[in-house]
Amino acid sequence: MVKYIFVTGGVLSSVGKGILTSSIGKMLQARGLKPTVVKIDPYVNIDAGTMNPYMHGEVFVTDDGGETDLDLGWYERFLDLSLKQENNLTTGTIYKSVIEKERHGDFLGRCVQIVPHITNEIKNRIRNAAKMVNADIVLTEVGGTVGDIEGLPFLEAIRQMRVEEGYENTFYVHVALVPILDVTGEMKTKPLQHSVNELRRIGIQPDTIVARSPTMIDAEALRKIALFGTIPESAVFCSYNAETVYQVPLILDKQGMGDFICQRLALKCESKDFSAWQQFVDAMIHPEHEVKIALVGKYAGLTDSYVSMTEALRHGGAACKTKVCISYLEAEKYEREPQCIKDLANFDGVFVPYGFGPRGTEGKIAAANYARENDVPFLGICYGFQLAVIEFARNVCGLKDANSTEINPDSPYPVIDLMPEQRGIEIKGATMRLGAHKVVLQKGTLAYSMFGQEEIHERHRHRFEVNLDYLDVLKSNGLCFTGKSSDGRRMETLELPDKYFYFASQFHGEFKSRPGRPSPEYFGFIQACVNKKLGKPKAPIS
Ligand code: GLN
Repeated sequence: MVKYIFVTGGVLSSVGKGILTSSIGKMLQARGLKPTVVKIDPYVNIDAGTMNPYMHGEVFVTDDGGETDLDLGWYERFLDLSLKQENNLTTGTIYKSVIEKERHGDFLGRCVQIVPHITNEIKNRIRNAAKMVNADIVLTEVGGTVGDIEGLPFLEAIRQMRVEEGYENTFYVHVALVPILDVTGEMKTKPLQHSVNELRRIGIQPDTIVARSPTMIDAEALRKIALFGTIPESAVFCSYNAETVYQVPLILDKQGMGDFICQRLALKCESKDFSAWQQFVDAMIHPEHEVKIALVGKYAGLTDSYVSMTEALRHGGAACKTKVCISYLEAEKYEREPQCIKDLANFDGVFVPYGFGPRGTEGKIAAANYARENDVPFLGICYGFQLAVIEFARNVCGLKDANSTEINPDSPYPVIDLMPEQRGIEIKGATMRLGAHKVVLQKGTLAYSMFGQEEIHERHRHRFEVNLDYLDVLKSNGLCFTGKSSDGRRMETLELPDKYFYFASQFHGEFKSRPGRPSPEYFGFIQACVNKKLGKPKAPIS
């Protein structure tokens, strides 16, 4: 029998449901169980791909090319899973498929309604997530906050699942904020109580409540949450602020949450093993070195825009006992105040992330230029790769005003251009080059020495690429393209062998980075930053 755990949130969004869901999965996984995860996003978009990162944080890309909510990234990192597009449900996907069935005649003669047609579609998809991978448990996180209008059909669907799957196979977790008043230091549980009431109004009584608070809740707050939530005190847990989010499963397990869930769902598990996870957490919180990284980007005001990149840098740091301090710098600043570029001297490494459109690109090009000319370790990802090519074309090859046609369609030297298969595409949703594609690395290069194998599969999300017409001039001036697509026609990695560490990739290594198994390009970059700071010679290419 598959077990279903549902996670809802109250009081406000961004309360940490994604980390909590991932942490519950981790507690179960540590006990030898096999969880999978579904994220429900009640917005009408089919996927996150068409949303501005400033509104929604980064778009997480799955192996199969899904452009999903960033919480899938947390599930993948915590549980070391490779999820699929189907693990992310939105109002858009659900309605689209019901409407298609209606047009097809599947409901002939009927009036198609939210209950049962929409709710049935939601339940089918949650059940299907278990079937896809033969999971023991499906964790379903309902995005947004209880009480949102658009979340109602999803809550109704998960309510029905208790009736259909049985009490012993379903479990509701509700997480809500418990703020602490500045003035009195008091823990306030009233907003949480209201959100539980809202959930009950819909017909869902939580089995457990997790208080999200800055510090461990006190006995009085715990008593009130249990009393007004109609659950025993032993069913109340607290997720307080930790040094790193990777501690959350350990914190909750120590409070007994893992055992509580297993008992209640009659899940058989004899032992638990957190050793590898604990080792990673220890490396994160007891570093021996520290590096400062300048992330020069376009969405610097919202760090969630770069969450997978941030985590990949930290995974890389943990693997060489290094604390990674990232400054999120607005690229446009270097356009308005070009003299500020020399402030990058205060950093051990320069990182240029993904991006779209012209805004901030000249600032990022200036950052790539600074790193190259001053031999500061540099890593560029996707747009960062393309902008490094532009910088090299302009300043080394002498191709004045070289650019990407995404930025300047009339550039005299369009060294980055639209991929041939992208021409003529006008629809914006899910039309980029997406997901995992094979990359072939050349032996005897930095790329090969970092990844340690000739063939890798890395995730992509782009429309533009290196224009093959400029390959000869770039190469003859010293830019090495060391990773390519199987047919050799797409440039995937670049490096400058005479530099301490200057590397960029068209693909996004961060999406496959895991605690204890960092993305090789991120690890290589952080290790180079530390080694250079410590005055060590450049690592030999193997
Ligand atoms: N804007 C560039 C492209 O579409 C880079 C995309 C990215 O950084 N993800 O090719």
